[in-house]
Amino acid sequence: MKYKRILLKLSGEALMGDLPYGIDNERLKEYAQEIKNVVEMGCEVAIVIGGGNIFRGVAGAAKGMDRVQGDYMGMLATVINGMALQGALEDAGIKTRLQSAIEMDKVAEPFIKRRAERHLEKGRVVIFGAGTGNPYFTTDTAATLRAIEVSADVILKGTRVDGIYDSDPEKNADAVKYNSLTFDEVYDKNLKVMDMTAFTLSHENNLPIIVFDMNKEGNLQRIVQGENIGTLVNL
Ligand code: UDP
Repeated sequence: MKYKRILLKLSGEALMGDLPYGIDNERLKEYAQEIKNVVEMGCEVAIVIGGGNIFRGVAGAAKGMDRVQGDYMGMLATVINGMALQGALEDAGIKTRLQSAIEMDKVAEPFIKRRAERHLEKGRVVIFGAGTGNPYFTTDTAATLRAIEVSADVILKGTRVDGIYDSDPEKNADAVKYNSLTFDEVYDKNLKVMDMTAFTLSHENNLPIIVFDMNKEGNLQRIVQGENIGTLVNL
């Protein structure tokens, strides 16, 4: 096993599957199974999930809503997704804990770093909800922050595409995929990996990022075992 402790970042949109909005139960079950496979290998798994399938603060602001209000709504959306994923994992027989950056003691523990680490040591999957708890941030930044706080070996960003390309592969058929990049190359080539706040935080703390296709069965397990899948960004 190459990575003993991982932080898996899933976008909210990934949970939609083929739906136009919300949460696709089949997709949820597939993800739970993928995660279960690595937990059973002894890998410690922390997860940050987005909220874009339900609400995005910027989208609200574009329609005239107060940005901060919209961002809090977005954070709450991530808790809904976190609860859905928690349910699916527990159904698959995996022990989990949900920790929220906004206190909500009926549904989630508060985020406490030491407690999160203890859960991970015991083999529980820890889902971090409500992003960083602050407006004007993204769940990519939350994922990076939590990964650093719990000393994850790597952040695994599960997406619909299988890595980082020199141009958008969904728009350009000639797009070329990178197998690995340094942080500096990402800045130089102006590639979009995560938003800059998240990316800089990863860089400054020397936290490697792997962008990969989470919808391909077995990919998560192969990465944890050390196969070169997706695109690795490191120093
Ligand atoms: N959000 C926030 N602070 C955070 C994390 C998220 O304000 O620390 C809000 C923000 O409005 C964002 C929304 O929650 O648009 C959902 O998160 P994101 O867009 O990152 O989700 P994803 O694109 O991964 O589904």
